[in-house]
Amino acid sequence: MKIGILAVQGDFEAHGRMLDRLKAKHAYVRTREDLAGCNALILPGGESTTHMKLLAETGLDEAIRKMAADGGAFFGTCAGAILMARHVKGPEMSSLGLMDITVVRNAYGRQLASDVFLLPTKLQREPLEMVFIRAPIIEAVGKDVAVLAKRDGSPVLVEQGRAMAATFHPELTQDTTIHERFLKLVQSHN
Ligand code: GLN
Repeated sequence: MKIGILAVQGDFEAHGRMLDRLKAKHAYVRTREDLAGCNALILPGGESTTHMKLLAETGLDEAIRKMAADGGAFFGTCAGAILMARHVKGPEMSSLGLMDITVVRNAYGRQLASDVFLLPTKLQREPLEMVFIRAPIIEAVGKDVAVLAKRDGSPVLVEQGRAMAATFHPELTQDTTIHERFLKLVQSHN
């Protein structure tokens, strides 16, 4: 398995540190060449409009869509979850369409500081620390999408086949649960 971390913008290094802790090899992806041979890709938090612009400029958008068609695995956090959505609102923008979810950007208002919650998930008995930073809300999910955690009734952690998305930032905590889950998902589809 070769895991790429999209590194054109945002908090990609935090994902890198998380995978280092789990002793999972990874490579930062800035070009189509970097993506070649990757069968898994992490899309970090940051600014989704900037991301989409840079992905279009580098041709990575098409390369990522092809990787999805070829059976690649994907994990997006916050802006990364926005990129993965089939439909983006607030305002409407193009995205990669890797998951059957509709998201509304900045839907909790303009948080200046981050919001941290301890919330239950379907992954374990203990609640999980979730850091939200200008997070989107997942407004709707398709019938094949599993909801693994919610905040105020809206999904914040979802999974569909080889794709997983979180509207919070597991890479900014010490808890490796979510990244371990993704590594298992990658392995199970290899
Ligand atoms: N608000 C950002 C966006 O809409 C996402 C913020 C984040 O990734 N922490 O792209």
